[in-house]
Amino acid sequence: MKRRQFVGGLAAAASVAACTGEGPECESGAAQSSEMFEWSCVTSWPPKYPGLGIAVNNLAERVEAASDGRLKIKVYGGGELVPAFEAFDAVSRGTVEMGHDASYYHKGKIAAAQFFTAIPFGMNAAELNGWFYYGGGIELWRELYAPFDIVPFPCGNTGVQMGGWFNREINSAKDLEGLKMRIPGLGGEVIRRAGATPVTLPGSEIFTSLQTGAIDATEWVGPYNDVAFGLHKAAKYYYYPGWQEPGAGLELMVNSEAWASLPPELQALVELAAQAITTDMLAEYTHGNALALQQLKDNPDIEVRPFPDDVLRVLKGHTQDIVDEQSASDPAWKKIAESYYAFMNKSTDNQMATEVAFLNTRAL
Ligand code: CA
Repeated sequence: MKRRQFVGGLAAAASVAACTGEGPECESGAAQSSEMFEWSCVTSWPPKYPGLGIAVNNLAERVEAASDGRLKIKVYGGGELVPAFEAFDAVSRGTVEMGHDASYYHKGKIAAAQFFTAIPFGMNAAELNGWFYYGGGIELWRELYAPFDIVPFPCGNTGVQMGGWFNREINSAKDLEGLKMRIPGLGGEVIRRAGATPVTLPGSEIFTSLQTGAIDATEWVGPYNDVAFGLHKAAKYYYYPGWQEPGAGLELMVNSEAWASLPPELQALVELAAQAITTDMLAEYTHGNALALQQLKDNPDIEVRPFPDDVLRVLKGHTQDIVDEQSASDPAWKKIAESYYAFMNKSTDNQMATEVAFLNTRAL
């Protein structure tokens, strides 16, 4: 029996093979609906990139398997179908049905989108998920993207990132002055105020830029991804923590019209798969980062070191100023910031008494 009769785009296939009276086809739920969908998903990641990119392929495979082939998603790496940073526009226009990237890449269009990836000195992965799923975060996100005809879903988290790779030592805030660093999102604005020049580059261009001296420093993700890019071969100092991204949430974007065309059971499946990927990606990073950091600490050519507290205090001060200034002029930002910080400020005591206190205990 040939049940995979994809017709492309959003159109539904006209028919499905009939049950012949026995065999698994007669018992499967596939007979409930004949609609089949073949979607395209564009991303900002190199194809099948560890963590960020693999997650989307996992999502596509799970959805296809669990829907018995009724929803097939073809995943494209950044630049394969549209440029790496144009996933949002492609989904918004309906050029493709789906996209996967980080919401802070759209800060030029919607500043408040940055809250849904990461805010410097903001929430970690567990807190961000608490806010998304139980604290009203997803509702605020959907309201923000509705004018662009995009339905967003949390879909992945890297966990706390690293501060990044530097070709010079950072001993005081003065050492940030004149530094040209690849750092996207609000973190980039923060270092601009500290006298540095932030640049945004897709992952695929980072290594060459750092190696040739086009940039002096870069943050990317964490040991797992950074080693995969060979960044340890292009800079000596590896600073932590990732003050700029304390738990970067990734996003799945679905075009509103495409979303509305899906029957409820396939909508439920996409939603479940996206939530599963959020857990899955964090697991992959937790494992991969542990192994890769050990490898870097064993490398005599690399120095893994913490940022001085004074540098972090300066960066935190600039962050607070930017958040407050934006709230004064941007009602959408203000509304989301109030919800975000109301939860974060309640959460800090709990995190300190549990995760932080426990890890300090384990390190005794
Ligand atoms: Ca990053």
